[in-house]
Amino acid sequence: MTPVLIDGKHVAACVREKLLAEIAELKSRGHVPGLAVVLVGNDPASQVYVGSKVKACAELGLYSQKWELPAETTQEELVDLIHKLNADDRIHGILVQSPPPSHIDEEAVVLNIAPEKDVDGFHPVNVAKLVLEDATGFVPCTPLGCMELLKAYGIETAGKHAVVIGRSMIVGKPMANLLVAKNANATVTIAHSRTKNLPELCRTADIIVAAVGRPEMVNAEYVKEGAVVLDVGINRIEDASRPRGYRIVGDVDFDSVKDKCSFITPVPGGVGPMTIAMLMANTVKACRQQVG
Ligand code: NAD
Repeated sequence: MTPVLIDGKHVAACVREKLLAEIAELKSRGHVPGLAVVLVGNDPASQVYVGSKVKACAELGLYSQKWELPAETTQEELVDLIHKLNADDRIHGILVQSPPPSHIDEEAVVLNIAPEKDVDGFHPVNVAKLVLEDATGFVPCTPLGCMELLKAYGIETAGKHAVVIGRSMIVGKPMANLLVAKNANATVTIAHSRTKNLPELCRTADIIVAAVGRPEMVNAEYVKEGAVVLDVGINRIEDASRPRGYRIVGDVDFDSVKDKCSFITPVPGGVGPMTIAMLMANTVKACRQQVG
């Protein structure tokens, strides 16, 4: 079977394109959607992510603020900044780049973000709204992007068995909630590090979402003929043949599984580009909901 390659760059560009009309409408009423991105410390990968988010705002004509705080910033100082951003009318979305330095309690920080500005969808109010299928809530950007990919390629989820590998609050659990919701109607199994007979379980899946963080773990043994495979993983592995000395691979062994799949996301270029596109969508939604 020759799989359809799911082109995340193209779908992300379509999402951005669609947002332009909504942004123009908001601007015509005097509202510019605004995002504040807060980075504590100088982790190089986080700096790149934060830079991309701010750049994406500029490309769409959104207002943004980038806060780069030193690694020794205290929890109290960070929370003070969040309270200021909560009260700032120019800011509709607030994001604290993960992971913060170890002395910061990330969960406690998130509790201080006003739920209506929590465009990452990590606040308990938004987690509850996802479970309750309340569309006013914010859903974490990566699983939201996965759903957008399924929609863009007309992939049926109703009545299908989806196995989500990974139970994190940023990907696995929200992904499972989205798939089981009444507008998707999948039958969902969440697998994790203690799941037994994972390859066998995955072979019963019509849709596999791999969000594990283990390079190329999901191989042909995990995939039944005709399955849809979404690979969320972003892993660096050493590769002396590359100028940088490494390459990025997913949680799926692409070459091993591709001939069994009906649809598959490559890494890079699959799920990855969707995350920032959905962050932009969440920021525009936050603005729309705040200004009425
Ligand atoms: P995480 O470490 O928080 O969670 C990993 C999950 O995998 C855990 O729930 C764990 O139980 C499960 N797991 C670990 N080993 C397993 C095994 N052998 N068998 C079955 N399950 C196992 O990771 P995360 O934040 O959810 O990220 C997962 C992957 O997705 C990583 O590669 C990360 O880089 C990537 N990611 C990509 C994006 C994106 O924008 N594309 C966004 C977030 C995360």
